[in-house]
This record gives sequence, structure tokens and C-alpha cells, in this order.
Amino acid sequence: MLKGPVVCPFCGCGCSFYLDQRGGDLRGVVPSTSHPVSRGTLCIKGWRAFEFLGHPDRLKAPMVKKYGIIRETTWDEALDSVASRLLQIQKQHGQDAIGFLSSAKMSNEENYLFMKLARAVFKTNNIDHCARL
Ligand code: SF4
Repeated sequence: MLKGPVVCPFCGCGCSFYLDQRGGDLRGVVPSTSHPVSRGTLCIKGWRAFEFLGHPDRLKAPMVKKYGIIRETTWDEALDSVASRLLQIQKQHGQDAIGFLSSAKMSNEENYLFMKLARAVFKTNNIDHCARL
């Protein structure tokens, strides 16, 4: 049975495919022939985009490290922890003591919001994107 279509999570091109699910197992992907970007094709990353879904090492919840111990936590606690630590670093070392690194795996809209978070909320121009690394 084909499920989807879904957008490939591996880069900003936004190719589309269906997930091939049989008997509860994901067997592969089938490119969408009608999608205006991928038009029935995928790169090698897209062809393998289903493999991480059932991987035993896949993180399914946020993690936090306290006193040397990594444990699962809630999104509220994880985001509070990151926000308070970033603010603490800025207070001690100045606004440009922190930086933001965005990802090609995010959509244009998410990258825009990330830029706003860096510049408007944390008042720093230290923001870049992994495509430039
Ligand atoms: S199939 Fe390849 S080119 Fe298309 S979105 Fe995925 S990683 Fe990017």
C-alpha cells in the first residue's frame, strides 16, 4: 500500500514520494510522477529516505543532559533549557556570543522564522546556513 505523498526530508529541493508499506513494514519509496519538482525522479538520499523511520537509534523525543546524564524529556523542558542557557550566555558574554546555524532540511518558511528568531529575538546577526559550509 502506498502512503502519501510526502516531502523528502533531506534537502530544500522538496522532492515528493509515496511510502511503500506492506504488512506494517516500510519497503521503500515510489517517486511522485506528478510533483512539479521531482517529476518522478529522486536522488540517492531520497530513495533511502524511509530507512531512518524504523531505525532503533532514532530519537523520538527531546533529550536533555544534566549532571552528565542524558535522559528523555518534554519539549517544554527542552526548549526552556535551551532558551535560558542562550540568554545566560548572552548576559555574560554579549549578544554576539551566540550563533544560529540553520538547515537545508528546513523549509524556506522555517528558515525565515529561524532568521527572525536570531535577529529579532536574540538581537544577533550571527546566523548562517549549512549549505554555505
Ligand atoms: S530526493 Fe534528493 S534532491 Fe530531492 S529533496 Fe530528497 S535529498 Fe533533496
